[in-house]
Amino acid sequence: QKPAAATSEDTATTEQAAPATSEVDRKIEDLISKMTLEEKVGQMAQITLDVVGKGENRFSSFEPLVLDTVELRKALIDYKIGSVLNTANNRARTPEKWFEIISQIQDMAMNKSRMKIPVIYGVDQIHGATYTAGGTMFPQQIGQGASRNRELVRRGAEITAYETRASSIPWNFSPVLDFSPDPQFSRQFETFGEDPYLISELGVELINGYEGDNNDIGHPEHVASCMKHFLGYQVPSSGKDRTPTYIPETALREYHLPPFKAAIEAGSHTIMINSGIINGVPVHANPDILTKLLKEELGFKGLVVTDWGDIEYLHTRDKIAPTMKDAIMLAINAGVDMSMIAYNYEPFCNGLVELVKEGKVKQERIDDAVRRILRVKYALNLFEKPTTNPKDYPKFGSKEFEDAAYQMAAESITLLKNEKNVLPLKKGMKVLVTGPNANSMRTLNGAWTYSWQGEKVEEFAGKYNTILEAVQKEIGAENVTYVPGVSYKMDGFYYEESADKMNNAVAAAKNVDAIILCLGENTSTETPGNINDIYISELQTELARKLAQTGKPVILVLNEGRPRVISRFERDMDGIVQIYQPGNYGGDALADVLFGDVNPSGKLPYNYPRYPNALVPFIHKPSAEQRKAEGVYNYEADYNPQYEFGHGLSYTTFKYADLTLPKESFNMDEPINVSVQLTNTGKREGKEVVHLYTSDLYASEITPDVKRLRRFEKINLKAGESKTVSFTLTADDLSYINRTGKRITEAGEFEIRIGDQVKKFTLTGSNTIGKN
Ligand code: BGC
Repeated sequence: QKPAAATSEDTATTEQAAPATSEVDRKIEDLISKMTLEEKVGQMAQITLDVVGKGENRFSSFEPLVLDTVELRKALIDYKIGSVLNTANNRARTPEKWFEIISQIQDMAMNKSRMKIPVIYGVDQIHGATYTAGGTMFPQQIGQGASRNRELVRRGAEITAYETRASSIPWNFSPVLDFSPDPQFSRQFETFGEDPYLISELGVELINGYEGDNNDIGHPEHVASCMKHFLGYQVPSSGKDRTPTYIPETALREYHLPPFKAAIEAGSHTIMINSGIINGVPVHANPDILTKLLKEELGFKGLVVTDWGDIEYLHTRDKIAPTMKDAIMLAINAGVDMSMIAYNYEPFCNGLVELVKEGKVKQERIDDAVRRILRVKYALNLFEKPTTNPKDYPKFGSKEFEDAAYQMAAESITLLKNEKNVLPLKKGMKVLVTGPNANSMRTLNGAWTYSWQGEKVEEFAGKYNTILEAVQKEIGAENVTYVPGVSYKMDGFYYEESADKMNNAVAAAKNVDAIILCLGENTSTETPGNINDIYISELQTELARKLAQTGKPVILVLNEGRPRVISRFERDMDGIVQIYQPGNYGGDALADVLFGDVNPSGKLPYNYPRYPNALVPFIHKPSAEQRKAEGVYNYEADYNPQYEFGHGLSYTTFKYADLTLPKESFNMDEPINVSVQLTNTGKREGKEVVHLYTSDLYASEITPDVKRLRRFEKINLKAGESKTVSFTLTADDLSYINRTGKRITEAGEFEIRIGDQVKKFTLTGSNTIGKN
């Protein structure tokens, strides 16, 4: 059956007649009044420009690159395309090269076209200026989530914005605000993990860092941020990328929506859509999510861009549109403003023009989309300054920026296990460094680094230290033996591994004082990162077991994009350190943690699962714990992670005491002030993350979650030092989404938990429903 043509019901009509109040609004209305339909449709198209340079090919990153003017003219002049992404084979370039490429594009758009509208250029600089050669590389978002350090997260985004603009790129497809409770998913490393509050708090820091305090993205050191992937992207039923899922509205609103809501309130200018199918409906064709929820209920005034090729997929993959033209109609009427077409732009441009002429897409919908796009272009000041001069950015790649990246890497590192205080290691020791992740810049950086799967990282590796190199620097190369034991095949599928002198590694272990075993997975993202088995690989397990049998202390370093199950050998490891994907300075930061120069302070941003068939997330219902609690014969609780969300050890010890509430009962309109005494009871300075959790003991409509994170603060204390840490909660913090998808604040009994301190209190007053 063919989809019906648009009706006024399912057509986005928001802001049809936005009053032209300000100067910019007047300019935009003036442009819109003069633009032809073809020019408007062109603004809604985003393309990439592939290999067109002289001597350019996919494998050479620094060849001279000149865009093919015939191709460029066809796209920008004949088809009036308004946006470009990932040009030049999505490879890293110096700021000077980016300047050349983008100048050529802007010259065509602004000097040779009728309307002289600049192109908006976008790229995925998702953990630093990852596509700018010499840019500063931060840990992937998952490590930033582990740091719990708001200031460092924000600083990283400021630096990324600076270096991105230094490359003449004004639009960054970051942050990832996906709620990511599934450790199978190939992109968990791109997120802040599996807690909605943590994601919201740090997501806002990234937006403020990219866009500046007042979202002044016209500032030459700021960029437009892009919230992604709206909504519910990282929970496919199969655990595999871009496959279908069912998410009830209650869960969408309780867990997935809050980070986007917070980010929209923080003023983010653009948003990218989930490529998947939720409840049978591809999100790109869902007006309930794109128009009713996003544009109307949340009042989002910015630009809505599709993900890669997703309009075409409505036809070719999702089978909701019998023709490409139907796919365009569905997506634009659902609320899409810009199509990330990538390559084949003619069907989109021609098809959309025809649809408007046939009355199947309303002119108002087109004007609304173009208005949103032009607003971002004006806000970015692209009409005045379509490119920047790299010389105006003297801090690009500076020591100051590197230090910030190192600091973030150091604070992300999470000490999971430290039997008999095996760590820190002593500097006089002899060590064996082994494992497939021991000598790789690629695995330290992860995907979206210099190229899509990160496979070109080694080309830029010279300046930075792998784990092996950093340990050699730390304790002297003469004290370090290196045998890989297992290696990743770099030329095959990313997950192929082979034994690489495993017996030699085991033999070498006998002559050292300690073993630093670097395991995990090779770098990947999206569909190439899909796995069928979440256990760490058989070869790596074999290596771990054989090394443990030598009787020498084994320190397991985990370098992975998602927690791979390690329970087959976890008990044999003496120390375990999670480094996630810490970026170019991760090797140095790890060496400093291993040998005691840095006291680890990272906390897990997800549950580390114990078994592949027990992937119960941190936020779960009481029934998942019940059987163990009841002591039922032969049953293990479903909720039994290897390490829980929030876990992370230190080289010092902290004691919590005196959790205090001023009274036992609070009315709904009263603030709830909470304080706790934190003391560093160990022998060295350290940082502790104070997590405040609440539990709703009984909820009337939906079984409450066991506990929820409501506040956190990272605190630095000298040895022996004490500090009172205070938080203020409101009744809103204790609310939940009820059966009908409305937020309800309910009177009743609650519990507050900070460290090992627990206190009950009562919320009084009449329930409120519907306040979002
Ligand atoms: C990814 C997005 C990314 C886009 C552009 C897509 O495949 O899902 O996260 O921003 O490509 O590179």
